[in-house]
Parts: sequence; structure tokens; C-alpha cells
Amino acid sequence: MISTLGACPPENAQLLFNNVDVSNWTKRGGEPAEWKVEDGVLHVVPGKKDIMTKSRFRDFFLHLEFRCPDMPEATAQKKGNSGVFLQGRYEIQVLDSSGWASPGKADCGAVYNQFAPLENACAPAMQWQTYDIIFRAPRCNESNAVVEAARLTVLLNGIVIQNNVQLAGVTGAPLDEKVEEPGPILLQDHSDLVCYRNIWITPLAEKGSDTYEPH
Ligand code: MG
Repeated sequence: MISTLGACPPENAQLLFNNVDVSNWTKRGGEPAEWKVEDGVLHVVPGKKDIMTKSRFRDFFLHLEFRCPDMPEATAQKKGNSGVFLQGRYEIQVLDSSGWASPGKADCGAVYNQFAPLENACAPAMQWQTYDIIFRAPRCNESNAVVEAARLTVLLNGIVIQNNVQLAGVTGAPLDEKVEEPGPILLQDHSDLVCYRNIWITPLAEKGSDTYEPH
């Protein structure tokens, strides 16, 4: 039993998936989302395109659960592929790479084509798995140039697989490259029958107080 499954959102969290429908999600172009919801589970419908939240975020803590289909004949990037795009710009890969000796920069838990996971924490197909992601948006100056890179930490099934990595920039097929702006959480339709549930987010303050007041 993996303890992060079924994690309860804290009081200040926002539910991104309401367990009933996709009314607070759209396609990339803003059209209504068309993924299927059954028994509180959100299903990719192949061909119905990526979906993203109507809400936009800067720094956040995100929890979600996913399940890859069993595709024993499929290999590499064709095996239970989906993805979680932070701000619609930075993909954390979803893939059935369970059991692979040395997952690379395109396998489950990778920051797509930038950072491989530190270890393989991916559970077998058809098992529910968790992502817990802490994201710090890039800091930009008045000209929208990045002065501090985006950073993120990822736990897969409770195991740290990305440790405060600094991103070189957006990953492939981003929603846009306006990295100075807040962005949605986007889930990828890569034509495989991946499912999601228990998706919630806690926006984070961009900094704490800078005063020193002994109490
Ligand atoms: Mg993907």
C-alpha cells in the first residue's frame, strides 16, 4: 500500500477535478473538454486532445493520481503515454516504464527531455500511482527575461525522483512560451487509455515575510 494514494487536500487546496465532469477544464484552444468521467475517474479519450484547467497558477503544490493501461505489446513511448504539463509548459512524463532498469529523459517521472528521474519508482500498469509536485515558477524581470529558472521537485509514489531541478526552459509542445505568466495544469492525450483521479492543487505564496520580528 502506497501511503500517498488518496491523499486528502488541505483546507487551502483547490480541487481541479470535481469527480463528476470536466466542466472546469477546456481543450488547448478553450473549447469544452471532452474526456470521459466514470465513477469518479477521469479518462483520456484518444483523439479528444489535451485538456487543461480553466484556472491559472504560478507557484504551487500539486497532487494527482494516475493509472496506465496494460499494453504488453507496446514499447518505449507507445506504452501508456500521457503527461502532466505544469503551467501548460513543463511536462512531467506519464508512461508505463515500470521495471525498466535505467529510466531516461522521456520515461515516467522525467521532466520531458530535460531530466531523467533519479530512480525508477514507477508501479506496474493498472495500478494507481501518485505524483506530488512542488513547482516554483521562473522569476522574470520587467522585460520578461528569466532571472531565476523554474524549479521543481517531484515525488512518484512517495519517492523523490526530481530534487529541485532547474529547468532550461519549456519542454516540447508547450501551450505557450510566456513563462512570465501564470498557466494551467494540462493533461496530455497521447492516444493511450490513461486515467486520472484525486487532482488538487495548493497555490503557494511567492515569498514569505522579510521582516524580523521576535515573537
Ligand atoms: Mg507524454
